[in-house]
Amino acid sequence: MRSTLSWLEHYPSEVAPSFDYPKHNLAKFLVNTAGRFPRNPALYFMGKTISYEELLDASYRFANALKGLGIRKGDRVAIMLPNTPHTVIAFYGTLLAGAVAVQTNPLYMEGELRHQLIDSGAKVIVTLDLLLPRIKKVLPSTFLEHVIIGSIKDYLPVPKKWLYGAKQWKDGTNAAKHRDVPFLLFPELLSSSSNAPIIEIVDAEEDNAILQYTGGTTGVAKGVMLTHYNLTANTLQNSHWCYDAEDGKEIFLGAIPCFHVFGLTVLMSQSVLKGGMLILIPKFEIKQILQTVDKLKPTIFPGAPTMYIALINQPDLAQYDLSSIRVCVSGSAPLPLEVQERFEELTGGKLIEGYGLTEAAPVTHANNIWGKRKIGSIGIPFPDTEARVVDSATGTEVPTGEIGELIVRGPQVMKGYWNRPDETAMVLRDGWLYTGDMAIQDEDGFFSIVDRKKDMIIASGYNIYPREIEEVLFEHPYIKDAAAAGVPDKYRGETVKAFIVLKDDAPKVTAEELEAWCRERLAAYKVPRKFEFRESLPKTIIGKVLRRQLLEEEKQKQQEE
Ligand code: AMP
Repeated sequence: MRSTLSWLEHYPSEVAPSFDYPKHNLAKFLVNTAGRFPRNPALYFMGKTISYEELLDASYRFANALKGLGIRKGDRVAIMLPNTPHTVIAFYGTLLAGAVAVQTNPLYMEGELRHQLIDSGAKVIVTLDLLLPRIKKVLPSTFLEHVIIGSIKDYLPVPKKWLYGAKQWKDGTNAAKHRDVPFLLFPELLSSSSNAPIIEIVDAEEDNAILQYTGGTTGVAKGVMLTHYNLTANTLQNSHWCYDAEDGKEIFLGAIPCFHVFGLTVLMSQSVLKGGMLILIPKFEIKQILQTVDKLKPTIFPGAPTMYIALINQPDLAQYDLSSIRVCVSGSAPLPLEVQERFEELTGGKLIEGYGLTEAAPVTHANNIWGKRKIGSIGIPFPDTEARVVDSATGTEVPTGEIGELIVRGPQVMKGYWNRPDETAMVLRDGWLYTGDMAIQDEDGFFSIVDRKKDMIIASGYNIYPREIEEVLFEHPYIKDAAAAGVPDKYRGETVKAFIVLKDDAPKVTAEELEAWCRERLAAYKVPRKFEFRESLPKTIIGKVLRRQLLEEEKQKQQEE
């Protein structure tokens, strides 16, 4: 039954109500839901559905298989998969066995992959056949003892229910010779393992459920330790705050990757908690997304701004019926106002902005769909989450309306960075997580992110935040995407440069015209002095602009001049 949520009408905007967060294995959500809705479709992948009963059965098999391979509580299992059924099975199987899932981006190149595998000490990796060449290259320098290989074909709609008993993958022995690492086939491993129920008892506040790597842009990537409690709490906080999902009824559009903590908590864990159907989309492709929405009528679509930008700019959008979308939660990066308004106009659904970071499992703030929201803000802190805006150096709170660093405290805040006590001490002080984001709190208790501390541009002594400039650029009718960054300048130290992507059907626009546009809307010192037109902007898989890459390219260009 839909929750009544009557408390929402009464709560003062600056305080959200408190909830209980059970201290259990995160996989308990799956066990509970499979008990309540055994026959409901849990996953949808390329025309095939897998019920909760089948998903739990496969997850038990995976957990028992890991035990058979010698995996013990606390051992690390790397999961390097896009959104396919293997991901969900391997994830819950790992947790059921009491092991720690090392969430691994399938796009990682050799260096990143090697670092993550060595740093985490993963003993097993689960992956797809097509990613194997990269794994083979790094294998000898890692601690891997087993490689489990799935294939997209395992779950294509074929007459056999599961493709158990597939042939041995022939090439799999090459790399194994190096260190004697066996290669195992995912379907065979499941079919040959017991489906006896197994759920390792955990100390939810102490035991890690996942290691989620982050911070590659500031030195080496660090493993964020998120406990079962962190993730259970954040799943429930999101559920109470953002979705008002109906038990056993919702369809989640899985366009964001589950290997990212946003996809884990706001998508996969939500769907499993509520007995929803999760549509697994391995790669974001706008046409495929639109066709899927039209055909399968998802009700919930968490995403990153870049996905919503792509959607509203699709010329043949009117051909598709998008009216099933009830709620979208946007996170990971700022959501431009224009995009939010246009999206809601086009779909009739609510697009709400939230905020979070890996170190907080990840969400700490969000607007909500029942009224208390302010467009352009990240909303108010989640239930049971404290937030302050402080002077970074002293930790003292700054007055309302002034810019400072956002710090947060709550059940979702990480235990620390894996094997990095010094770096942990730098960001965790008295339980408060220093986010590195500059923010403002207004009189109603709503927060707005001004920008990353490290992205601030200092031009002739003025502090400039790229986001403010980007908002102005997004208002321009011909601009599809934009990023601003501080580039070296002989006289001003840094100067603002805007990187622009024009809409496909836009007429020619000159840098002078855009400069004039900005001049009318921004203080003179903030107006970009340089413009560069591009086909697209470099972005992470979750849609964050890779400002560092833009700056490196710019530096190279300046050196060549
Ligand atoms: P990650 O840990 O990779 O998920 O990145 C977290 C960072 O993304 C935060 O520290 C913010 O800088 C940024 N971020 C997330 N959500 C928002 C948002 N709604 N507005 C602005 N920045 C955001």
